[in-house]
Amino acid sequence: MNNYSEGEYEIFSRLFILDEFSEENLKKISKIKIGIVGIGGIGCPLSQYLVNSGIKKLLLVDGDIVEKSNLNRQTLFNLNDIGKKKVEVAKDKLKLINTECEINVIDKKIDTSNLNSLNKCSIIVDAADDWLTSKILNEYCLKNSINFLYSSVIKHDLQIILFENTNLKNHLCLNCIFPNKDDANLPRCSTIGISGISAGLAGLIAAQKIINFYLNLEDETNKMTIFDGKKLSIDNIIIKSKHKCYLNSV
Ligand SMILES: [Zn+2]
Repeated sequence: MNNYSEGEYEIFSRLFILDEFSEENLKKISKIKIGIVGIGGIGCPLSQYLVNSGIKKLLLVDGDIVEKSNLNRQTLFNLNDIGKKKVEVAKDKLKLINTECEINVIDKKIDTSNLNSLNKCSIIVDAADDWLTSKILNEYCLKNSINFLYSSVIKHDLQIILFENTNLKNHLCLNCIFPNKDDANLPRCSTIGISGISAGLAGLIAAQKIINFYLNLEDETNKMTIFDGKKLSIDNIIIKSKHKCYLNSV
């Protein structure tokens, strides 16, 4: 038996008809615990479509409150939510899709002092738009053999890659791809802008990658998906480590 109730079978009736959502695969899906760091332009659609896909365990991490400037892309929020904690609003909205989805929240920005609260996650998604956060999540996931999905959107361009840290044959991590040691003064959404549509696409692609990975539908590991949201052009690049990475021995 898997872990879905009769009510859930009704909610997901059109989804569970698909061959990929066999009884065996539903057992797998019901057990995955997904940590999402950053409930913003990517985290909102991602968390919604994970719940829509039958995911049963989510951990939402974000210390921010909802602001007006979030509303062009952070699809779980509206004007009634201004000033409220993002994780609390997101949890309430997601529960309205499936009350039986277990949703835990941390209403803090993640840093080295509270990283360990992520240790029960099967996979951690970096949707934070903050390079320092990306770096500490990458290292934490590598050291603790937790799968890691990095996602980023700037203007119309998105990049997403999943690192399979539970089965690391040859070292490859985010630092191998972006080796800058110091905090680079990288462009951020708040300074150069972000398309709400591209952020939404990033959330959806991240959700599909997670489903593909856990159900073995496609090989998603170490495959950087680059998408131009304006041209609607997509590239999948297999990444191999070439340069010396200081995290190679952890
Ligand atoms: Zn590395």
